[in-house]
Amino acid sequence: MKAAALTAPGRVETVDLPTPAHGPYDVLVRMTAVGLCGTDLAVVRGARPAPRLPWVLGHEGIGEIAAVGSAVRHLSEGERVAIEPNYCCGRCAQCAGGFTSGCAKRVAVGLDTPGVLAEYVSVPAEFVHAAGDAGTRDLVCAEPLAVARTAVRRSGVREGGTCLVVGAGSQGLLVCLCLAAAGITPYVHEPHQGRRALAASLGAVPVESAGDGAATETEPAGHVFETAGVPEAAAWALRHAAPGGTVTFIGMSGAPLELTSHELVRRQLSLRGSLIYDHPRDFAETVALIGKGTLAPHRVLRAGFGLTDAAAAFDAVSSTPGKCWISLDGTGRAE
Ligand SMILES: [Zn+2]
Ligand SMILES: [Zn+2]
Repeated sequence: MKAAALTAPGRVETVDLPTPAHGPYDVLVRMTAVGLCGTDLAVVRGARPAPRLPWVLGHEGIGEIAAVGSAVRHLSEGERVAIEPNYCCGRCAQCAGGFTSGCAKRVAVGLDTPGVLAEYVSVPAEFVHAAGDAGTRDLVCAEPLAVARTAVRRSGVREGGTCLVVGAGSQGLLVCLCLAAAGITPYVHEPHQGRRALAASLGAVPVESAGDGAATETEPAGHVFETAGVPEAAAWALRHAAPGGTVTFIGMSGAPLELTSHELVRRQLSLRGSLIYDHPRDFAETVALIGKGTLAPHRVLRAGFGLTDAAAAFDAVSSTPGKCWISLDGTGRAE
């Protein structure tokens, strides 16, 4: 089978690999589409080193079940599915408490185990969600949408609250989408004009950014979401939290936050890191919501590529407003 793999640092190529075997508790998925994000790019660029080379990339995958393991009862051949690409252990204290994103033994697809940018992937059936007839372009957004929905859930923001979203990369756009769907107007801070326009098309209100000439200073908000993962964005997020406000971080940067405990206490801020989602609830609910068709997350998709164009797709990830993705079945491409 064909797969898109990292073959040398910074180099993505199409490779031929044996079709994976699947065990009794697994399903073999014929992949139809894979979304790309900054995490994949970090593997390509070596910021998150691949365990070995060649390394199959990608973690945001959907497909159709090609074969079912002998012990799997709840899924059948031909069913359309979304893959939850974080395999928690299910046995530790965190997993037992429903906090599976905190599982120390969690296996992340595309990082710890080979990715899903391949014609066939074997997946533990527990981490495969039946998707009914949800459209390909909506469903390929399931994983990053689950990340966004979970951050919104954990933040505790309520309808009618004020909200700022820092960054309108694909994760920021999906947070805006979730907030708007919940009846909360997201004000979005994003320096890139194309991303600002895309956020506005999803119901967000762009606020001033340094250098764009806008004069008004943004009102502090009770809830701020930091999605960009760069130090300036984190600093902006902290500055724009209202007294008693909550800053939820999805973006990750290696730089320390600029905040003293004095300021934290005086302003009575709550800082919340939100990593992925908790199994199985967050992902299952997200897939079910996509099936209803009201959220239409495909609106964040922009450039679509074929599997053999994977290298070009990765090149486009950081420069394209909206999300890049790869279609493996040749249908449903964005362009
Ligand atoms: Zn991702
Ligand atoms: Zn665990």
